[in-house]
Amino acid sequence: MTQSFESASDPADSPGRRTISYVLPVYNEADNIATFHRALLEATSARDDYVFEFLYVDDGSRDDSLEHLLALREADDRVTVLSLSRNFGHQVAVTAGLDACTDSAAVVIMDTDLQDPPRVSLEMIALWESGVDVVFAQRRSRRDSAFKRATAFGFYWLLDRLASIEIPRNVGDFRLMDQRVVQEVARYREHDRFLRGIVAHVGFRQEAVLFDRDERFAGETGYPLRKMIAFAASGIAGFSTAPLRWISRLGFVISALSVMLACYVAGVRIFYPEQSVPGWAFLGVGMFLLSGIQLIMMGVIGSYLGRVYVEAQNRPLYSLAIAARGPRDGAR
Ligand code: UDP
Ligand code: MG
Repeated sequence: MTQSFESASDPADSPGRRTISYVLPVYNEADNIATFHRALLEATSARDDYVFEFLYVDDGSRDDSLEHLLALREADDRVTVLSLSRNFGHQVAVTAGLDACTDSAAVVIMDTDLQDPPRVSLEMIALWESGVDVVFAQRRSRRDSAFKRATAFGFYWLLDRLASIEIPRNVGDFRLMDQRVVQEVARYREHDRFLRGIVAHVGFRQEAVLFDRDERFAGETGYPLRKMIAFAASGIAGFSTAPLRWISRLGFVISALSVMLACYVAGVRIFYPEQSVPGWAFLGVGMFLLSGIQLIMMGVIGSYLGRVYVEAQNRPLYSLAIAARGPRDGAR
């Protein structure tokens, strides 16, 4: 590992420089780590006015990723390695990384398969320096399969319509967050995590940089279809109780239809008595009306369940951006 300056490895030697941490989740990336780290060093070497910390979180990899990471750690003490006791999933791995960088001025989250190009993080840093709190990388293009593109489109379309807050489209977890945003995100402790939704929920000044997402360098995706569907579901369920409200809407529609049916049946009975078939009207209308009423009642239960859910998520009520006030302990 070539290091052009000694002090880069010791933050204590450089009181003037602020620390930027990279949180780097790793799951079975043995063939990517060396290339990725080289690319990351190359990009970050352009900014020697910061101290960089490279925080790799091994998410219970089954290959020898951890050995590779520990070797990096040996060679460069700006590298930190955390290893989770088993595979907890990408979102939890990133959270573990965020929890560990409490004294960095900013944190960059980035995949370790070279799909997120390290040089883009320099653009993020430049925007952050101009006062933006969250810089997220928005995909201008993606070289994924047609299937992945189509499902991603459908997912963002649905999320746009359902979610209680605006979650930007075509944005993964590749982003830079200012320390104060990291601290706010850390207050969200829900288990079923959809980080990009949480960051959107936190607020502050958020802006995008556009980038072209590359193909995975080596290895295979840790997000097979099954995990992708579960992830999409936690995105929607975590930020919307709309599906619960649909229950009662459906109930109202069915009840209204059954009232119309009752009118129709009564009309036939009065105006065309010779055509009316005895018996079915009571059963038919009754069946529709009852199931309509049942759905409305389930919707009522759903609306309470939605409230219980929101309370159980126990998210912070608000986040402060600025608190300007006079001296607290001075004479008043
Ligand atoms: N990852 C992880 N835990 C997992 C799956 C993935 O930490 O259970 C990491 C992985 O090493 C990579 C990032 O999360 O750095 C994104 O995963 P992947 O590239 O497999 O997802 P895709 O880009 O295909 O959506
Ligand atoms: Mg990837």
